[in-house]
Amino acid sequence: MILLAPVAVYFCVLAALSTAQRIAVIGAGAAGASAAYYAQAELQARDLDPAEIHIFERSNRVGGRAHSGSVVYNNQTLHFEQGASMFIGKNRQLLDLAIKFDLSLCSHPCTFAHTNDVDMEANRASALGAYGVWEPKDNRWVVRMGSGPFLDSVRMLWRYRGTGDLGYVRRRTQAAVDEFMQSYDDFNNHTAGVFSTWDEYLEDKPLLRTSLYYRAAEFYQSPGERIRRRFLDEVVSLATRVNYMQDVDRISAIGAHISMAAEADTAYSVAGGNWQTFANMISSAPAHLHLNTTVREIQRSPAGSDRPYALTALSSDGVEITEQFDLVIIAAPLPLAGIRVLNEQHAKLVAADYVHMYVTFAIGILHNDLFPPGRDLPRLIVTPYHTTEPFNCLSILACLTQQDMQRCRDGPVLVKIFSHAPLDLSRVFSSVEWHHEQQWHSYPHLEPRNAGYANEDDDTSTVFHLDRKSPPPIVLDQMGPAAGVFYVNGMETLFSTMESQTVAARHVVRLALFGKGE
Ligand SMILES: Cc1cc2nc3c(=O)[nH]c(=O)nc-3n(C[C@H](O)[C@H](O)[C@H](O)COP(=O)(O)OP(=O)(O)OC[C@H]3O[C@@H](n4cnc5c(N)ncnc54)[C@H](O)[C@@H]3O)c2cc1C
Repeated sequence: MILLAPVAVYFCVLAALSTAQRIAVIGAGAAGASAAYYAQAELQARDLDPAEIHIFERSNRVGGRAHSGSVVYNNQTLHFEQGASMFIGKNRQLLDLAIKFDLSLCSHPCTFAHTNDVDMEANRASALGAYGVWEPKDNRWVVRMGSGPFLDSVRMLWRYRGTGDLGYVRRRTQAAVDEFMQSYDDFNNHTAGVFSTWDEYLEDKPLLRTSLYYRAAEFYQSPGERIRRRFLDEVVSLATRVNYMQDVDRISAIGAHISMAAEADTAYSVAGGNWQTFANMISSAPAHLHLNTTVREIQRSPAGSDRPYALTALSSDGVEITEQFDLVIIAAPLPLAGIRVLNEQHAKLVAADYVHMYVTFAIGILHNDLFPPGRDLPRLIVTPYHTTEPFNCLSILACLTQQDMQRCRDGPVLVKIFSHAPLDLSRVFSSVEWHHEQQWHSYPHLEPRNAGYANEDDDTSTVFHLDRKSPPPIVLDQMGPAAGVFYVNGMETLFSTMESQTVAARHVVRLALFGKGE
């Protein structure tokens, strides 16, 4: 991994020395790291020379929305994920990469992975199993307790016994995941088709394709499905609210399938931070990494230039550079990236509105009267369908009391809270020792195609007119074989996860390098 300083001098040296194919990747998150890693792997698999790959990242770190933080409490360093926190056991690509790079996995959430404090780890695991629902009662708010991770809870099975709803939705979830996973087998067997639009990608995935056109509630209540409304509100909506901050009457059915999959499978995190997978991909690709470097513009190079595209970027110390590349792969959400691509029109075509959310971490003592007496604290507290009051979900990451676990109710806990607006911590805590707020444009509003919905509170959607009839293009420009501008993050309008972004990038680099003729 090479850090650039000073930017301009380094570029001149490379440009003079290099005859290899030059690829620019914009963004050092899951998609950008994967684009670099799989581009080199695909070239190597065909005995072709490695490319000279440059990754431009406007922040000072790798990982993008996979971003971990820490707080020191009682001389312990507590690590936590501020963005993408977990992947499921069926996410084979992320699992394989973690194994390949010798990264330790822990079951999610693994706040104490780096503390070596066995007692606290055990305490956390034994106490925090259940879930709770934040509900109004007698003019105040209370937490009604479930009795386990919400999909597996005895109460849940009892409540929906005989209806078949739970089993049916689980089978649908499994079928959707199986369609997505077909990509792995195709890659491994070298039979993966090359496609140039996301609609082509969906062609052999009938359930995912259909699910893109319906809201989750419409889909599950259509004549062939007939899932009860109560089940949608009490189960499916909890999953969509936790995973995508969206309700079943808004989110597409595909978003619901992915949210249910996240709740139905074992969840893992990389100990010490999921971003490490992407850092390892970049260094082993190998690729040159330019942190603190914001790409501003991509244009066709003037006639007679060595390479077809000119990329202009600005370093954090104000140095502007323009460099030429054969291929440019954009691995960041274009509506948020501020890049002028050939002309403004391209930026408008690839618009999507991203959910603006707050992730708040806090250490404090929870209001005792929120919880029923005599019960352990729940691991996860969710608010019911269609409320923003006062958060979407609250995870208790750790109980910080080292003695009697019953005292966890009276002692400090580390929590993570997702909300649409800044959180008034006094609604939840009787006292707060520390807190940290992180804002994200987290993932697109996963509206079904043709829904015609625009979120007026979201400033990105007032700028762009959203056309959901067709997904954002993958090919933004092409000037011959292995010469073009390609866009990975249109995939996020289907659904957005670390795994799907690595898979999407792998598909896009195959198209970019070898075209459809493969
Ligand atoms: C709070 C939260 C929770 C989530 N939970 C999960 C989860 O549990 N599991 C899961 O799988 N997914 C989760 N996700 C979704 C997941 O984070 C994303 O799907 C995935 O990380 C996106 O990766 P990406 O590389 O496509 O984009 P990003 O991670 O956003 O990377 C894009 C990068 O491009 C950079 N960039 C942007 N513009 C420019 C520019 N002009 N020049 C240079 N660089 C630029 C950005 O700084 C960024 O680093 C969550 C997301 C959030 C926000």
